[in-house]
Amino acid sequence: MVDSSDTDTGWNTIGHEWVVSALINHIQSGHVYHAYLFSGPPSVGKRTLAIEFAKSICCLEKQGSPCGNCRPCNLISKSKHPDVDEITPRVSGKTIRQHKINIDEIRNTIYRFTLNPLELDRRIAIITNFEDASRLVYDAMLKTLEEPPGDAVFIFTINNVSSLPETILSRCVSFDLRPLPVSVVEQALIKRWGTQHQEASFLARISGGRLGWAVTLMLDKEALVNRSAKISQLVDLLSQSRVNRFSYADALRKDREQAVETLALWECWWRDVMVVSSGATNAAISNIDYQSEIQNASSQVDSSQAANTISAIRNTQDNLRKNANTRLALEVLMLQIPTIHLGH
Ligand SMILES: [Zn+2]
Repeated sequence: MVDSSDTDTGWNTIGHEWVVSALINHIQSGHVYHAYLFSGPPSVGKRTLAIEFAKSICCLEKQGSPCGNCRPCNLISKSKHPDVDEITPRVSGKTIRQHKINIDEIRNTIYRFTLNPLELDRRIAIITNFEDASRLVYDAMLKTLEEPPGDAVFIFTINNVSSLPETILSRCVSFDLRPLPVSVVEQALIKRWGTQHQEASFLARISGGRLGWAVTLMLDKEALVNRSAKISQLVDLLSQSRVNRFSYADALRKDREQAVETLALWECWWRDVMVVSSGATNAAISNIDYQSEIQNASSQVDSSQAANTISAIRNTQDNLRKNANTRLALEVLMLQIPTIHLGH
């Protein structure tokens, strides 16, 4: 039951079955819309779904699912199809690194979409991390979505829909992707990636159901080490003075993407504290390697304090994405995180 390796649908996705079946339905009924939005936490499978959807639309077999063998299926898998554009944010900024969707790339795509496709009967654009777009990008895209050229399909992925203008959101068919059950991630790691049971179980837990993140942690030992380092820093900060917290914030602000990632780990850790302080057992927590710290913290804050901390972290993430003053945003957060003495 937990095995969702999708041999039945032919989509190279794991989980998100209801989304896949809705999309297959759109293709088979001939009602593919102009704009789709896949939202959900990082590494939950949004881009994979977008690629599989594009393949399914373009596949020469026209079954509603990708055959995986035809020219469109092959080229789209490699991000090399001339009629399928993929736009991802690029790193920019000298003093403060951040990821941005390039307006010129968007304009090029919009221009190409006014021309006939080269091989297919339509053009498709996959635009990932759409929250990393500027007002200029949103405006250009909105104009295009108001009068989409031909049978063009735009597929956007985004971590958080709250950062998207309502005018764009209302023109998209949206699907919200949730983290997968831990057991599904565990089985996928074992079956698809040949991970040992014990490691798969651990990685699935700490990934919080984000399969892509579990795979990254499995393949990239440095990512695993970084994760622990970031959580340990958080745990240390809990008992630190304001001065020390501010100097940590100052270091963190220099790489906005790193800051956003760090905050995602903190959010996950605080969710564990909230879960335990509401009376759940350790079986419900993600960061099982920080059980004792989570237990300890949840004995010093109640679940509403933990919930407030989580929303403070989320607000800070939003502010960082919206280009707010990074230093100020992080300093405000430092003041909102409760002081907890964990004792070593
Ligand atoms: Zn195919």
